[in-house]
Amino acid sequence: MSLNTVEPELTPPTAEVKPIVTEKVSEDSSPVELIEWMLRRFAGQRVVMTTAFGMEGCALIDMIAERADRFKVVYIDTDFFFSETLALRDRLAERYPHVEFVRHATPLTPEAQAERFGAELWKHDPDLCCRIRKVDPMGEVMQDVDVWVTGLRRSQSAARASVRAVMWDWQYEVLKISPLASWDRATVWQYVQDHNVPYNPLHERGYPSVGCTHCTRAVEGAAVDSYSREGRWNGKLKLECGLHGEGI
Ligand code: SF4
Repeated sequence: MSLNTVEPELTPPTAEVKPIVTEKVSEDSSPVELIEWMLRRFAGQRVVMTTAFGMEGCALIDMIAERADRFKVVYIDTDFFFSETLALRDRLAERYPHVEFVRHATPLTPEAQAERFGAELWKHDPDLCCRIRKVDPMGEVMQDVDVWVTGLRRSQSAARASVRAVMWDWQYEVLKISPLASWDRATVWQYVQDHNVPYNPLHERGYPSVGCTHCTRAVEGAAVDSYSREGRWNGKLKLECGLHGEGI
């Protein structure tokens, strides 16, 4: 009997090896995983992103535009946008022609608002001004939405620390997805630079976040890769416009 053994010839596997597709996501999933899951899971439903064209919104538009054939982005125009913000909207629309940018606004003109509620409502009742010009118009938009996509991040403020990547929005009664929830501003800034994403030049002039002209100020020493709510509603306790419900 021979001690030599003969290795059986290995036959190549015949079964087709399919690539593994991540079907499920969690809070720990990356923004891209969450976006790809969202586009698959809610295909055919009314998925709409809203933005005021902050740096987070721009990065998110780029990520989604890269993966979706068509996509709808709604912005609530308060009629008090900086000219830089309007120019940024135009640059984004040019860069992403398959993304539909839809303007929505209160029918109440600034002049009619002043006539009805007094001049400079943002000074004596900013909550009412935000409700008229942002919160209620957003409610109208949400009537036709199943999934609301936002650029919210947990580290943006104490009030936003409870933001989940996927959560139910009780105010507008829609599913809200915030793929950047776990990112910090430095990571967003890095993404914007790496992908040459258009962004608001005001971020480089001391505006960590950009809202209405009447209620946004530059913050001394603010760095472009560092976010804060400073500079919004300067001199008031208000830090949020109310779009994102309780405290956010
Ligand atoms: S941010 Fe200021 S101007 Fe803009 S809607 Fe709110 S209160 Fe009015």
